Amino acid sequence: MLRFEEIEKSYGQTVALRGVSFDVQPGEIFGLLGPNGAGKSTLIRILMDIIRADGGRVLVFGEPRRRQDLDRLGYLPEERGLYTRQPVLEVMTYFGALKGLTRREARARSLAWLDKVELPHVASWRVDRLSKGMSQKVQIASILLSDPDLCVLDEPTTGLDPVNVRLVQELLAERRRSGRTTILSTHHMNQVEALCDRVALINRGELVVYGTVAEVRRRHSLPEVRVQVRGPLPAVPHVETSTEEGDGHWRLLLRDGTAPNVVLTALVQAGAIIDRFEPLLAPMEDIFLHVVREGRA
Ligand code: ADP
Repeated sequence: MLRFEEIEKSYGQTVALRGVSFDVQPGEIFGLLGPNGAGKSTLIRILMDIIRADGGRVLVFGEPRRRQDLDRLGYLPEERGLYTRQPVLEVMTYFGALKGLTRREARARSLAWLDKVELPHVASWRVDRLSKGMSQKVQIASILLSDPDLCVLDEPTTGLDPVNVRLVQELLAERRRSGRTTILSTHHMNQVEALCDRVALINRGELVVYGTVAEVRRRHSLPEVRVQVRGPLPAVPHVETSTEEGDGHWRLLLRDGTAPNVVLTALVQAGAIIDRFEPLLAPMEDIFLHVVREGRA
């Protein structure tokens, strides 16, 4: 769907991107992560043809990105706000028409999307009357109503209450079900774990982590498992330390290179009655902090 190849960009003396390359697959929700100043917005602006890269290529649908591809892309920037006295429906219709819909189609979709974001009553309101949360949902709807093949949303849920966060997450999951591709730029790591298929973490203009969320979490985890047993925990080989956490729960640190199922089998053979057995994966938040502090993967 999208490929960045060796993207370079500097602003004067400031190097914002140092040869960044990665792919985004069709139909995935892709997390674009990184601390402030990492270069995420620069990369997105290059994709959207707002600024030009100093080097490298952006391929969309397998070809170098052309101006007309922008009709199939959507972008919700971080700095947003609709400061206009126009009615909501007018503004949304305009957004749809910008992406090539007829006015009639854009208007019908705008009304349908206002329903979807649970704001059917604001169609005739002036935009500057909307609350911050309402305005944010209207902007998300304005971008999604043209059903872009690829859309980039920068912190779409910031400032929304938990009910609306869930609603936006559901809209993204729905895009995935219909095969549309979404790039989600966010600092909310729980959202990344809940929603994203794959991630790229950029730090100081370099790609430092890239892969599926499950892979990345496994790669950065200690070889640890949590076990819940009825009765005592038998001693088995390959366990470095075992820590009781109460209520039959144990945390076992395995010797390096030990596959969890080896320990599971040994426990069962030793007569343990196991209710639960799970490898412990590092939270994305810890991985983010670790990588950014260490300045490397
Ligand atoms: P992020 O979106 O990850 O926070 P940015 O892409 O905005 O990062 O910024 C990357 C680097 O480029 C930062 O050091 C930032 O200060 C610098 N930068 C971004 N935009 C400009 C600009 N218009 N002029 C000069 N420096 C910029």
